[in-house]
Amino acid sequence: MSEVEVYPVPGEWAKRARVDAAGYEKMYGLSLADPGSFWLEQAKRLDWIKRPEIAGDWSFQEDDFHIQWFADGKLNVAANCIDRHLKTRGDQTAIIWEPDDPAEDPRRFTYKQLHAEVCRFANVLKANGARKGDRVTIYMPMIPEAAFAVLACARIGAIHSVVFGGFSPDALAGRIEDCDSTMVVTADEGRRGGKPVALKANVDEAAKRAPSLRTVIVVKATGADVAMTEGRDIWYHEAAKSVPADCPPEPMGAEDPLFILYTSGSTGKPKGVLHTSGGYLLWAGLTHELCFDYRPGDIWWCAADIGWVTGHSYILYGPLANGATTLMFEGVPTWPTPSRIWEVVDRHQVHTVFTAPTALRALMKEGDEWVAKTSRGSLKLLGTVGEPINPEAWRWYHEVVGEGRCPIIDTWWQTETGGAMIAPMPGATALKPGSATRPMPGVEPQLVDPGGRVLDGATEGNLVIARSWPGQMRTVWGDHARFFQTYFSAYPGKYFTGDGCRRDEDGYYWITGRVDDVINVSGHRMGTAEVESALVLHPQVAEAAVVGMPHDVKGQGIYAYVTLNAGEESSDDLRTELRNWVRKEIGPIATPDALQFAPGLPKTRSGKIMRRILRKIAEGDVSSLGDTSTLADPTVVDDLVANRVS
Ligand code: ATP
Ligand code: MG
Repeated sequence: MSEVEVYPVPGEWAKRARVDAAGYEKMYGLSLADPGSFWLEQAKRLDWIKRPEIAGDWSFQEDDFHIQWFADGKLNVAANCIDRHLKTRGDQTAIIWEPDDPAEDPRRFTYKQLHAEVCRFANVLKANGARKGDRVTIYMPMIPEAAFAVLACARIGAIHSVVFGGFSPDALAGRIEDCDSTMVVTADEGRRGGKPVALKANVDEAAKRAPSLRTVIVVKATGADVAMTEGRDIWYHEAAKSVPADCPPEPMGAEDPLFILYTSGSTGKPKGVLHTSGGYLLWAGLTHELCFDYRPGDIWWCAADIGWVTGHSYILYGPLANGATTLMFEGVPTWPTPSRIWEVVDRHQVHTVFTAPTALRALMKEGDEWVAKTSRGSLKLLGTVGEPINPEAWRWYHEVVGEGRCPIIDTWWQTETGGAMIAPMPGATALKPGSATRPMPGVEPQLVDPGGRVLDGATEGNLVIARSWPGQMRTVWGDHARFFQTYFSAYPGKYFTGDGCRRDEDGYYWITGRVDDVINVSGHRMGTAEVESALVLHPQVAEAAVVGMPHDVKGQGIYAYVTLNAGEESSDDLRTELRNWVRKEIGPIATPDALQFAPGLPKTRSGKIMRRILRKIAEGDVSSLGDTSTLADPTVVDDLVANRVS
């Protein structure tokens, strides 16, 4: 691969940031050396009804398996995100809402208004029978009422399970049933990129397969005509008229459940990840502040959907716990034009944008002119999460979008971890494109070989976390045995992330892809991310996905799927050129054995490539593609199967 560039901490960041390089070392060292005091000190960031006196109490060993943080503390998460700010910043904007259609007006809610809206929503939930511990499914478009509903659950102690509004009735029904949810909050319709999404109709369809469902609360969003079932469906705006304006927050134990969230399903059946109240909120708030050097007055934009953990932790809980102004975007990056994201940045004078590599690659392939015609003068930081970011996309983000001014904060984490685990702090960490850099306080990453031996120094292996941290998930809903089995059985005493990783001489971490995706070519272990990054570096390539395939001689061969930039033609010559390109970039061992041009790749609804399906196609095993219900566009699979290279 080309030499790794290092982007030193810009001088002004080193001076003015909350944490500089020495500060990071000190904080990190302390967090591992004396976790009890470190975390009790950090716990002061939250507003407790009863302040905890114990920090972590956990064991990853099978015979004593338990994970608890601040277990003797009591708090309410919604009160932490709203009520405690009322005195100091009640009139500050808490949420800016940017509609799908740029011709419409944005909406803004101050902390005072947010308080009123959430109390009213909470009272509607209560009036319809929701109680502490009940599961409320939220299947909503990206409208402010989605935030109100989430925070209303937190206020009354109901456990929310947000299901992404792009999911099908089947996927929704499965998630309602899995957690025995009796109530769904939805809207008549959603809108994305100018197109309606029939949310209420989907709920009606899902209800046929979800007998536990008894109540559906419907928010009027677009005003579309929808069927209402007598005795089950309730219009929110009607119910809201007859409830009191104030709703006292429910005192919750730190370990009481806050939410269930199903993982994206990149590798198989989604797991109902359960997070609890105190530790999760602390983690979301702390990492939001440290990774993004959040300052009062910053306009913060996490361009994810609240259906994903990124939306939970970095649209709502983290920023609101910190009293921030958080932007919520209803639309998509490419509509009405590929300038949209940057236009929203200008419209609201956004300081930080946090998005995913998949969105960046989609915008990159449309050309720089869409970015260039906007100002982006307000930006100070750019963040990314979700997949390894190809150095090519990193540089584009840094140079074209940020004009070299804004550090790139590449955050590695998972639904399971609650918030960022390995990520830079802009005033402390020199950056290397493609590396999530170094661990957050309290996070002890280790690389292990398949036998569980801990590997030292610059090396590559399976990424495990050797100790608990406050934001860690507590169980798989309804299946504690699966929780232990999935994450703690492979390497006893450690949390196994499922990701492969390399550590360099500077102690930087480079995620190489899922462990399942590591390819073993003639005894050489190779991460898929590296080969993909090499392909994407080619000027005609927009996106690439690489998987292993059976190979008589090498054991495994490399099968590459390549999507070209808009307007580029595929040809046999280009195929040869791309194979040679990878050979030159990485070495002969990495040369793809087969290369298929693909107009689209199978992606989850959160935009991640589903390599499991690509692997099956590469193996020629197309009869058993498994669960494809979380795919964004199942039709791309047919094209891939039809044009398989054998
Ligand atoms: P499932 O667990 O159901 O297969 P998923 O792993 O895609 O789905 P998420 O929790 O949304 O569900 O994603 C976490 C995973 O995303 C990580 O384990 C890692 O593979 C990848 N990932 C996230 N952020 C980064 C990053 N900054 N760099 C590299 N990989 C990342
Ligand atoms: Mg996962």
